[in-house]
Amino acid sequence: MWLQAPWLSALALLLPCSFGTPNQDRIFKYRSYRETHSFFEQLQEKYPNLVELWYAQDIFPEILPRKITWGTCEGEPCKTLIVRIANKRLLTNSTPEVFFSGALHGDERLGPATVTELASFLCEEYGVDTQVRRLVDFRATWIMPMTNAFGYAAHRREENSMDPNRDFPYLHTRPERCMQTQTARAVNELFRRHLFQFMITFHGGMRALTYEWGSRNHMTMPQRRSTEPPDETAFREVGQAIQAAAGKTLHRRWFYPLGRINDLVYPVEGGMEDWSYAAGWEKSPTPITVCKPNTYGGYAEERTKYRRDSISTLVYLAEMDNYKTAPDNSLGHRLEIWSPSATNGHIARNLRMCLKTIEMTRPEVVVLPPSMPSSAGDGATSLSVQIYGFGCHQMTARLVAVPSSVVPGCLVGEDGGDLEQEQFQQILQKSVKMDATEGHCRGLSLWNASTPPPRVLQGAVPTGEEVCVLIAAEFDQQWARQTRPDPLVTPRSHAARGRLEERYQVKANDGPMMIKARRTKLFAVGGPIRLEATSATTMTAKETTMATSDPHTSLGSSIWQQARLVPTTTFVNLHPRPEEPEDVTYAQDFFSIAAISFALSIAMGCAMLLRNRQEVAIKANVKDAQTRSELAEMVGKDPI
Ligand SMILES: [Zn+2]
Repeated sequence: MWLQAPWLSALALLLPCSFGTPNQDRIFKYRSYRETHSFFEQLQEKYPNLVELWYAQDIFPEILPRKITWGTCEGEPCKTLIVRIANKRLLTNSTPEVFFSGALHGDERLGPATVTELASFLCEEYGVDTQVRRLVDFRATWIMPMTNAFGYAAHRREENSMDPNRDFPYLHTRPERCMQTQTARAVNELFRRHLFQFMITFHGGMRALTYEWGSRNHMTMPQRRSTEPPDETAFREVGQAIQAAAGKTLHRRWFYPLGRINDLVYPVEGGMEDWSYAAGWEKSPTPITVCKPNTYGGYAEERTKYRRDSISTLVYLAEMDNYKTAPDNSLGHRLEIWSPSATNGHIARNLRMCLKTIEMTRPEVVVLPPSMPSSAGDGATSLSVQIYGFGCHQMTARLVAVPSSVVPGCLVGEDGGDLEQEQFQQILQKSVKMDATEGHCRGLSLWNASTPPPRVLQGAVPTGEEVCVLIAAEFDQQWARQTRPDPLVTPRSHAARGRLEERYQVKANDGPMMIKARRTKLFAVGGPIRLEATSATTMTAKETTMATSDPHTSLGSSIWQQARLVPTTTFVNLHPRPEEPEDVTYAQDFFSIAAISFALSIAMGCAMLLRNRQEVAIKANVKDAQTRSELAEMVGKDPI
């Protein structure tokens, strides 16, 4: 594709990335119940591959057994809308999941406005920004924009006079007093089927970003301070990251004070927060209540008995503003998302918090292209790879080579979590370390003016046999740190256990979703590649194509002619998940890879002229180019 119009590609490379949709500004606004429904219907129509909508009362019939009209919302029977933003083509039963609740209290209206704009941001930026694409391709974002549909439509805190955030199965002494609302039952059913790593539940009436504990059974007496949750380190670190994403005030303080719910807000019984953190591992029936409500035709008590470890979400409660419904002119506008400032409106601040939370749902190593050997040496060839950590705070990463017989096709899945235990252990045993790095993850850089450069790993590729080059990495091992955990258990959240435990596997209460994670995660760099000692003097097919059709051939022809006479080196990746430079389109990517490959080839040719006794030839596979063309074609055809 780059050959068709290389000058266009070159021109595109020179254009600043801000020429994309980020310039499409619009003022944020509140939407009514009905407007929110039609907004999502239109979004789904426009982005059918990314957006899925459901109504809780349709897909979870158990929450409304008699199918009665349980409330009227703007003249219609109320329905609780559930939205998923994810690339449907890439979804599996172990895609990491995150959940956002717009409003449990119907008169706290900033949350619904935020999560609605979040959904549209993810769809609109999917085709523009590679990091947003990563959030949508490899994570599933679940949203209930108006969790309390009745309250939102009626501008009331409660659902039919019942407070949904006192309705969850936590610390209730009377089983008939929980799971009374459609709101809480809809959330319960969703959590029974999914394994959310993180959640933000939006509220209003004060300003604070808080995490567990948020109930009186986890308070010290008589100080009435919150005890330490077993996941304190993860809660605090991720909390600080999303606090930073929200930005500062005019007085240079963080916009959101960060702390525990008991300390900054107040303890409640039946809150969604402590339930969704602990329902999978605290004791039942106390504090995890088995509910027997009578409202709306009842709700089976089995629905509040949970599989061990199934519900263990890291939960943040965001109290967004002192006003439950902040003034219209405090919402801000879309361009503010990219430029954090003390004058930002509410939506940009909270939308950035959501993006950061989505990112943290999956820790991973991002490999930047071109990931190919950069020079030849005696009996070995050096490989140089640029990487950065995404979805994490700290990372330890090793560049390794593994015989491809152990990893057929160099395919390790998303992060090696799916591999059989025997194969995984063989990979670790037979891997040869080439280089290593550790330190901070770079993460989302959408709104960061100064982005740290990628880390460079380089090392010698072993010769003689076909190998796969992988990155083996561990993330956020500091999350194991505890001082006085209450109760006295190791970190319990899916997010922490998926990072800390040698192998962590868990299934949802109902349905097919599961987590398959390992402490050491594997990411493919490329390959299979083979370095062999031979006296080959011909160029590979790809080099020949480049030498004859590259627009700069005339400049380099003499070098190419000479290069033909000496052993040549070519590497082509079999990159299972092509990664492209940020803010560069696929067409630009082809051009840049071709240009860099060309430059590297010339450099290698020169190096080898100086070392003509050396006999290294590489047999490589050209599947990568095919994969990239296919992907570009697919993206081109995508109706987004
Ligand atoms: Zn509230």
